Formats: sequence, structure tokens, C-alpha cells
Amino acid sequence: MSVFTHNATSKQRSDTRTAGRPALIDEATVPLALYIHIPWCVKKCPYCDFNSHELPLVAQEADGLSASAFDSVPTEVIHDKNSLSKSALFADYVQTLLLDASSQQVLAQGRTISSIFIGGGTPSLLPIAQYQQLFAGLRERFVFADDIEITMEANPGTLEHAPFAEYLAVGINRLSIGVQSFAADKLTALGRIHNPDQALSAIQAARAAGFKRVNVDLMHGLPQQSLEEAVYDIQTAHNAGATHISWYQLTIEPNTVFYRSQPILPDEDNLADIEHAGQALLKELGYRNYEVSAWAGAADTPCRHNMNYWQFGDYLAIGAGAHGKITLTEKLSCHDVEKLGDDNMKRSDGIYRFSKSRLPKDYRVVNKSAQPNSENIDAPRMINWQRVADDELVSEFMLNALRLHDGISWQLFEERTGLSRNHIAKQVRMLIEQGLLEDSTYKLQPTTLGQRYLNQILQAFL
Ligand code: SF4
Repeated sequence: MSVFTHNATSKQRSDTRTAGRPALIDEATVPLALYIHIPWCVKKCPYCDFNSHELPLVAQEADGLSASAFDSVPTEVIHDKNSLSKSALFADYVQTLLLDASSQQVLAQGRTISSIFIGGGTPSLLPIAQYQQLFAGLRERFVFADDIEITMEANPGTLEHAPFAEYLAVGINRLSIGVQSFAADKLTALGRIHNPDQALSAIQAARAAGFKRVNVDLMHGLPQQSLEEAVYDIQTAHNAGATHISWYQLTIEPNTVFYRSQPILPDEDNLADIEHAGQALLKELGYRNYEVSAWAGAADTPCRHNMNYWQFGDYLAIGAGAHGKITLTEKLSCHDVEKLGDDNMKRSDGIYRFSKSRLPKDYRVVNKSAQPNSENIDAPRMINWQRVADDELVSEFMLNALRLHDGISWQLFEERTGLSRNHIAKQVRMLIEQGLLEDSTYKLQPTTLGQRYLNQILQAFL
């Protein structure tokens, strides 16, 4: 339990920091974002370890939605006869998201929402009518910053008739398109539902509709991928109108089909060549590498929502399996927090992490006494509500902040963790001597060598 009250003086704050315990954080200085998870995909990709589930499909679409991303979803018969129709499933989910948002209103503590990220799964599966309802409801519950950045992830296989203009109208002003590759054989190997032409037209159509900011996700280190193919992908994304490129290396994660089948990937030498050539081309095309995999084009800026993660900001989280982080102070009464639904939820000042049930069927909570329809669902409960232990604050902060190539200021370190820079002075000195951190009095920044050995830097803060 923190010994400090909300009215702690600056003297108290500085004394605590020196003593190595975190001081009270002023949550008003911590930006607040919102993450929304849409958990369904048309088909599970063999390399994917995200919380995504193949969409349960019914034979008949009851209300026949017209041309939209939604229409590209096949309508075979499903295994579960009790499943809702597609439109009912989505409508029900949006209602649940709004209940979830209502229950987290109290956590916003009067702060404005500076960015929203709709991730998945495949958010572009949701019909525009559902987004209109969702955003109308969110605006009733939260104050959006005037310049709020709202990103939606989109799958090119669901964008053929996408309502881009309507996306813009509801406030979505940044798209992140999961292209991965422009080579047909690579897309097949990755189990993607789209082809190269669909990927190209998705980027071009989004730009033509007025999206000024379009990120393209590309992967390299794919099975049988040559250096030429990897750089062709970058050049093609750029030519098509990408303003930002997230250039990831394919990694094989446990609990995926690829983990069991172990496809043959380029060897280390080839991978290094691909990396050098890809990075050189991205630079030549005017992109700036501000984070491990993120490259902002000359006319674009870093993704605000992701920057908030890396700068240890706060974020509410709604949707199946969504994770949040929130800084709490005495301003919030225990009663308010207990209303979030966990009877055992204990609270003291500090930084908390929480998540929501991973499976969509568990996320939606039906009133015990009621019929299972949309009017009788409860707000999804918090699970894993946990205070970040004082001795884990530094490693949690570094895990995020050191991904940023420009580093992070000492002031921000102190504001977000409540710790003094003296707390980690010994480790920082050692890492500077090892050539892994820059020698700077005003910020923490990995050197070029440090960017390659981030894990080694993190070890020093465990
Ligand atoms: S489309 Fe994306 S989220 Fe869905 S299964 Fe494939 S990689 Fe995973």
C-alpha cells in the first residue's frame, strides 16, 4: 500500500524517488488511449498467434447486408447450430463492447482519449453500420481529443467493396493494411486470403478515398524468399501509396501451425542480407526507422497509438482478450473500481494491468436469469487485474521504451514510473561503458549496437 496520498508535496515525491520507492504518479500527465479488439478472421493463418478465431458462419444471412467488407465472408454452414447469424453476432459484439466501455469510463478519470486502435483478428470484417453504432456510443462515454488518431487494421481480402469514405466519416483516420507480401506464392504459403492485386487495390483505394495515413504491414524472412522479392515488396508498397511501413521478420511462434510444420526459412546470412537491403531501400525512399520494425514515410508521423505503448502511456481496452494499462490515484474511490466487477479487486495507488476473457464466448456475459439475447448481457468482467509491482516498473518501462530508436527522456521516465533516474544510475553507467546506451544527460537511448542487443540491455534492468 502506498504511504503517499494524492496531495503529496513535491518534497515528498523527490524524497520517495531517492529512497527507491515510486512516488505518486500524476495521471493527468499520462496520455490515455483505447484499444478495441475484433477477434474474428475469415481463416486462421498458420503463423498467427494473435487472439483471432475463425468466424462462425451460418447458412443464411438474416438481414442481407449490402455490399461491404462483410459480403466477402463465405457463408457455409457452421458447426455450432446455436451460433448467431453473422449480423446478429456482430451487433451483439458491439453491444458488449459498449457495455465494456461503460464499465471502464470510471478509469478514464476525466482524461481525453488521444488515440484509438482497432486491432484483431480482422476489424475490417465488421460492417460499417456497426462502426457507426460503436463510435456513436464511444463518443457518449468518453471525451475524444480534437486531433484524435483512430487506426483500424484491415485485411486486403475483406476490402474489395470497403466503405472507405464511411470509415473516414466515423472518425477512422489511419488504416493499417495487413499485406505481408506482394508475391502470390508467399501469400499462399502464409495462408492469407488475399492475392497481390487485392493488396495493391486496397492501398490505392484507401488513398483515393482520402486516407492520408496508410500503414502497410510487410513480413520478410518468408519461406524461400529471395532478397529481390523482399525489396520488391517494399518498393511496391511505397509505389502504391503507403505512408508508413511496418517491416517485420517472420518468427515462428509456439501454438501455431508453422511451429508444428517448421517451414524452411532463409538462413542467417540471407536474412542479414535481406535486412541490410530492405533497410537501405526504406531509407532511400525517405522512411524513418523510429522503432524496431516501424518506418514512417517522409509525409507521415509515427503511429500515435503505438508510441503511447512504447512511452508507457495508459490505455483502456475493450474486446475479447484485450489488455489494458491504467495509472490509478486516490482520486478514484475503491467503490468505483470495485464496480468493474472483480470482488477480490484490491487497490492502492499505482499502475495496473488488466485483460478481458480471450474467447469471444466467454467475453460475452449473459445475465444468469435472463434469456441469451442482446438486451440481457452484462458488462464483460475484468480478469488478471494486477498492480505492477514496484520492482517490475523499470523492466516493464524499458521493455517498451528501448524499442524507440530516439530513446526516451529522463523526465518521461520519472513521470511515467514515479521513480528517480538515480534508481537505475548504476545499470545505465554499465550499459554506457558497454557501448549499448548513448551517454546522454537528458535521455535514455540505445546506440546502434544497443538496438541489435536489446535483450542484453533489458537483462540489466531485471
Ligand atoms: S488475418 Fe491476421 S489476425 Fe487473422 S489469422 Fe491471419 S495473421 Fe492472424
